[in-house]
Amino acid sequence: MKTDKTIEMGVKSNQSTMIREQCQELILTPEKITELEKRFLYEINRGLSKETHSKADIKCFVTYVQDLPNGKERGKFLALDLGGTNFRVLLIHLKGENDFEMQSKIYAIPQHIMLGTGVQLFDHIAECLANFMKEHAVFEERLPLGFTFSFPLVQLGLTKGLLVRWTKGFNCSGVVGEDVVQLLKDSIARRGDIEIAVMAILNDSTGTLMSCAHRNHDCKIGIIIGTGSNACYVERVENAELFDGDTSKPYVLINTEWGAFGDNGALDFVRTEYDRDVDKYSINPGKQLQEKMISGMYMGELVRLVVVKFTKMGLLFGGQGSDLLFTRGQFFTKYVSEIEADDPGTYNNCRMILEELGLVDATDEDCANVRFICECVSSRAAHLVSTGIAVLINKMDEPSVTVGVDGSVYRFHPRFHNLMYAKLRQLVKPHIQFDLMLSEDGSGRGAALVAAVASREN
Ligand code: BGC
Ligand code: MG
Repeated sequence: MKTDKTIEMGVKSNQSTMIREQCQELILTPEKITELEKRFLYEINRGLSKETHSKADIKCFVTYVQDLPNGKERGKFLALDLGGTNFRVLLIHLKGENDFEMQSKIYAIPQHIMLGTGVQLFDHIAECLANFMKEHAVFEERLPLGFTFSFPLVQLGLTKGLLVRWTKGFNCSGVVGEDVVQLLKDSIARRGDIEIAVMAILNDSTGTLMSCAHRNHDCKIGIIIGTGSNACYVERVENAELFDGDTSKPYVLINTEWGAFGDNGALDFVRTEYDRDVDKYSINPGKQLQEKMISGMYMGELVRLVVVKFTKMGLLFGGQGSDLLFTRGQFFTKYVSEIEADDPGTYNNCRMILEELGLVDATDEDCANVRFICECVSSRAAHLVSTGIAVLINKMDEPSVTVGVDGSVYRFHPRFHNLMYAKLRQLVKPHIQFDLMLSEDGSGRGAALVAAVASREN
């Protein structure tokens, strides 16, 4: 005879089964990954080639960075880091191969500036820089500066880059198509109280590669999985058809801007209703579609949309949601990391987060299902990133490659590194050795290193 309890359990496990079925579309099967690898490589090659560059999803912008650090870089440098979670100004003193001192300060960029005019933005940056230089008593020195600007740029040289488009939370008017180094210099000139020597403008993925290569000479790829996502890698000059710099050197760093993969439909076969929803309500609809499946700016919202759907279907929380759960942006990406950090079978973080969202009556089964949804979304992100990295590693075909990785998702998500490692082991050609290494502050120290390498040559 069935007791009430077993009937109840039967119903519940039925709900869990339905959730698992519905989540299948979030799983990248080996077949899908093989197709993704093909499309990814195709877009990379289209980006590199002069003829097809304008049509390519993955633009593969040339950077004019051609030399990796050799460990002999010395001196004091300023750096600006714009485009990640925080805006920072840094003072970095490179003293020896593994010896450096760094002071930095985070400054807020209020949202009205992120969405204001370019002049407001660069005046604000110049003001923060001036204050920092005063506080750190380097006010009267004309220090070399590296500018980490984490948005797509068409570079016309190491110190000249035209903004292609804003991404993530930024959308300042009057900057697209302009040389951002010039905009910074104009703002500094308007103030008239400080002098700087901009030595380089670079992407955070480039900075990550450089700061990792400083310690590990096998590092040839830099990856960001933070607010946004991107990859930079070392390419042979003859493959970079748009490069018009020094062709006597064998290599040039390529800023792939892989976040735009899918903008012409290449990812439609794996995108879901949740991805389309995230995109639709973003400030840049139709753009950065791969980034929107991966990065920290969107991951929590993806989970929220899945949870909302299943709640409305009656599969979670007895069909009862909450105002916060039904509000855009209220499920933070850090929740995904925290929920997955619970020991298997325990739900302390999960329960706390659900309570914060006003979901006070969650059962253990609800918690298990919410965790499962988080795992689906974060695994898909890790597998998508790994697909891109594997394509780059296999294309470079060197015996050994270290991948420097930075960004809040990689740093704080408890399983991201292992998920990536396992998937890469499946996808990378068996004769190639690879390693994944956390890059310590690529966007700060990397900027100093690029500036230092540039100064070394002058
Ligand atoms: C930008 C890239 C950047 C990445 C990570 C993307 O949105 O387009 O330039 O490297 O975010 O910060
Ligand atoms: Mg950063």
